[in-house]
Amino acid sequence: MRYISTRGSAPVLDFEQVTLAGLAADGGLYVPEAWPRFSTEDIAGMAGLSYVETAVRVMTPFVGDSLSEDELRRLCEQAYQGRFAHAAVTPLVQLDHRNWLLELFHGPTLAFKDVALQLLGLLFERFLTGSKDHLTVVGATSGDTGSAAIDALAGREGVDIFMLHPRGRVSDVQRRQMTTVLAPNVHNIAIDGNFDQAQALVKAMFNDPGFSRKYALSAVNSINWARLMAQIVYYFYAAVRLGAPEREIAFSVPTGNFGDVFAGYVAAQMGLPVAKLIVATNINDILHRALSSGDYSVGEVTPTAAPSMDIQVSSNFERLLFDLGGRDGNALLAQMKAFESERKLQLTNAQREGAAGLFTSCRIEPEAMAQTLAWAHGEAGQIIDPHTAIGLAAARTVELDSNIPVVTLATAHPAKFGDAVERATGVRPALPARVGDLFDREERYDVVHATFDDVTAHIADLATPRS
Ligand SMILES: *Cc1c(COP(=O)(O)O)cnc(C)c1O
Repeated sequence: MRYISTRGSAPVLDFEQVTLAGLAADGGLYVPEAWPRFSTEDIAGMAGLSYVETAVRVMTPFVGDSLSEDELRRLCEQAYQGRFAHAAVTPLVQLDHRNWLLELFHGPTLAFKDVALQLLGLLFERFLTGSKDHLTVVGATSGDTGSAAIDALAGREGVDIFMLHPRGRVSDVQRRQMTTVLAPNVHNIAIDGNFDQAQALVKAMFNDPGFSRKYALSAVNSINWARLMAQIVYYFYAAVRLGAPEREIAFSVPTGNFGDVFAGYVAAQMGLPVAKLIVATNINDILHRALSSGDYSVGEVTPTAAPSMDIQVSSNFERLLFDLGGRDGNALLAQMKAFESERKLQLTNAQREGAAGLFTSCRIEPEAMAQTLAWAHGEAGQIIDPHTAIGLAAARTVELDSNIPVVTLATAHPAKFGDAVERATGVRPALPARVGDLFDREERYDVVHATFDDVTAHIADLATPRS
């Protein structure tokens, strides 16, 4: 399996290289040269498989020669057995006759990002062990990526991690999950700015060839292909349990950077019978505008009770635009350059029509989010988090054939956003025992101005340059 950049001019890489590289050198994102396809029999053959075995089947075509099947299985066992508090890893929970939750938050930091990052940390270690290379992972987080990445990389050989978060705009639980990890290779940076600024700073570091080469920068944001790959697995795992390949399944995905829902798109390209992918946004609705009217234009970010979706620029949308635009790297480069200078882009007809088949979108207002939290509690006995509530609200809004089960991705544990949950339901969800004494532990982080010079100077002080 070979990987190409959406912007057409970065070197073609194999799986190991693409995992360590993150962003492509031409500013694009890596995607497989072609989507692997499973036959109906292949998918039927996944019935009854454990999560780990499903993961091995789904990821094998993407890994190519970089890992043997046994090595891949061993890494999946290490990532998912014991690290997740549920034996099914990502269990399904029924809400009513057609709505289901796919609980993705049973990992160590209580959000779906653990599913991919626990594996990614092990992939880094596997590929760096025995080499002289030292990686500097740089990331921006609106909360959940940071804690999941830090948990996955803390104490690992050959890697330092620098995580930027927007100061004061992540929840206390989210911040403490990052800042109380005191491993010497973990560096938390609170920037005076919002998430989009943090993300833009990270992009600028990658696009600065001098800096990115000197420190061997690597990414764990969902621009990293291996992360998306690990997320494809649970679409198969859930759909097969609900009757695929004989039956079509719809998924509703609380969306921010378009990573999680793009993994669902890939699952569909691989042959999974996905009836619809519902892209659920909060009032930060650039993706809803893009998919409903072709208008991908950046607005102001408004903070909400679902902070992991409070973003305007969705990095992974580029992967979809590339695939739907006939995989023309030159055309996409021009489209993205114009977007970067004008902060807006109009989808082409081909992109709009291509998206319309599989995607639909829905913008959920704060009141509907709160009502859905209360509905899930009152009618189905489930305490859900605000992000999940946005997905579920969209699932209950969009009209679909009534035979199609709708799976809402439950992306965070409700205790991670206890205040919003308590406001809507009157119940304060308890933090699970596995996060331990989070509120008693010492915190460590640095506050840095949201400028390229300040942030790079700070990192240069602490990072290990390439030898
Ligand atoms: C990251 C995150 C999202 C958004 O996922 P994307 O892959 O960025 O679209 C939604 N909900 C929660 C809880 C998250 O942590």
